[in-house]
Amino acid sequence: MEPSSLELPADTVRHIASELRCHPTDERVALRLDEEDKLRPFRDCFYIPKMQDLPLIDLSLVNKDENSIYFLGNSLGLQPKMVKPYLEEELDKWAKMGAYGHDIGKRPWITGDETIVGLMNDIVGAKEREVVLMNGLTVNLHLLLLSFFKPTPKRYKIVLEAKAFPSDHYAIESQLQLHSLNVEKSMRIISPREGEETLRLEDILEVIEKEGDSIAVILFSGLHFYTGQFFNIPAITKAGQAKGCFVGFDLAHAVGNVELHLHDWGVDFACWCSYKYLNSGAGGLAGAFVHEKHAHTIKPALVGWFGHELSSRFKMDNKLKLISGASGFRISNPPILLVCSLHASLEIFRQATMKALRRKSILLTGYLEYMIKHYYSEDKAEPRKPIVNIITPSRLEERGCQLTLTFSVPMNRVFQQLEKRGVVCDKRDPNGIRVAPVPLYNSFHDVYKFVNLFASALNSAETEK
Ligand SMILES: *Cc1c(COP(=O)(O)O)cnc(C)c1O
Repeated sequence: MEPSSLELPADTVRHIASELRCHPTDERVALRLDEEDKLRPFRDCFYIPKMQDLPLIDLSLVNKDENSIYFLGNSLGLQPKMVKPYLEEELDKWAKMGAYGHDIGKRPWITGDETIVGLMNDIVGAKEREVVLMNGLTVNLHLLLLSFFKPTPKRYKIVLEAKAFPSDHYAIESQLQLHSLNVEKSMRIISPREGEETLRLEDILEVIEKEGDSIAVILFSGLHFYTGQFFNIPAITKAGQAKGCFVGFDLAHAVGNVELHLHDWGVDFACWCSYKYLNSGAGGLAGAFVHEKHAHTIKPALVGWFGHELSSRFKMDNKLKLISGASGFRISNPPILLVCSLHASLEIFRQATMKALRRKSILLTGYLEYMIKHYYSEDKAEPRKPIVNIITPSRLEERGCQLTLTFSVPMNRVFQQLEKRGVVCDKRDPNGIRVAPVPLYNSFHDVYKFVNLFASALNSAETEK
C-alpha cells in the first residue's frame, strides 16, 4: 500500500499532454499511455465482447465490429482464452481414462485444487498453508464464522460496515440466530456520518475502542462493493485484535484488485470469490485464508473427508486425521472443471504480478477520474450538465479500480443509454453506476472511448423526458 510514493495520476496525464503539446483530454494522451503500458499484451489473453454481441445494443449508435467497453470486471471478469483448452484437457482425460484421471495428468482430480493453490498465495499475500480453494464465497464465510465466532455472554457482537453485501449481512444474521442471539443487539453496523458516503477510519476505530470488549468478531469487506472504498485492513485488524476480537475480511472486491498482505497484516481469517477480478467464470471456485497462528487452535466446525490427511484419506478407517490449518476446512473433493478456469486466470496473474497491475490500475482509474472531473465536476465554472459525482474516495490508498458515480439525473436513464452504446457496467441502488477499468484487459483508450460514450449517454438522458 504505497501508492502515495507514485506520481499522482493527474500529474502524469498533464505531463504527457505537455510533452505531446496537446490538451490532457486529447485522444493522443490515451494512446501514449497505452504505448507506455508494459501490461498491454495481457489484454490478448482474454475474449473481449464485441458490440454486436451485446443484447441491448443500439446499432445506430455504435460500430458493431468494435470491442465493447467492458468496465464490469468487478462483477464478472472476462474469459481467459486458455479456459477452454484447460477444460478440454480434463474432459478428454475423463473420456479416455475415466476414474484413472483422479491420479494422473497435469491436474490429478484428487489434488486439483492443490495444483493451483500456490498461484493464489501472492495475490492475497499468504503462506502456502494459509490458503485453501473450495466452495463458494458465502459458504466459506459461514464455515469460517462457525469456527471463529464463539460468542459468550460478555463478548457476542459481530461488527460490520453499513450496506454490507446482502449475502454477508444474511450470513451474519443467521450465524447470530444459530447461537440464539438477538440480531439487532448483536449486529453492530458502522455507518458513514450524516451526509457522507464512505466510512472514516477514525469512526471505525472508535467503535472498536469503545465497544471492543463486547465484540467477538469484526467482519468487514476489504473493499466495499458499492462505494469502492478500500478499507485500512492492517489498522482495523490491529485495533480489533488489541481488544481481543477476531478480525476477518470478505475480499470479494479486493482480491486481484489491490495488493494484499494477509499474513503480514496478521488478519485472522478471510474469504473471497474468484469470478470478479480473478476471472474464473460465474460460480467459480472460492478461496479462504486462515492465519498460520491459528493452525493448531482453530478447528473446522464441520468436517468432511477432504480435511483428512491425504496419506491415509483413502484407508476409509473413519479415524479422522485432520490437516492443520486452512486445508482442514475442506469438506468435499474439488470440482475439477472449476479448477481449470481458475487455473487459466491465475497463470496470467502470476506473469503480470499484482504489484505491476496495481501500479497500472492507479493510473488507469486516475485517468478516468481526471476525465470525469474535468467535464462534470460541480467545482468547474461551467460544468457540463448533468453533474456527476464520484462517491469513491479520491485518495489512492482508499480505493481500487472501481469508481462509483452518482448523477443529478435519474440513474436508470443514464444506465440505459450506456447499455445502448456498448458500455458494460452496472447500476446499484440507490443511485450509483459502478465503472471498473481493469488493468489486466482494459486500456487507456477504453477509458477515453468511455468518456465520449458517457457524454453522449448523459446528453440523451438529460433531454429524454
Ligand atoms: C460478490 C459478493 C458475494 C457473492 O457471494 P457468493 O457466495 O459468491 O454468491 C458475497 N459478498 C460480497 C462482499 C461480494 O462482493
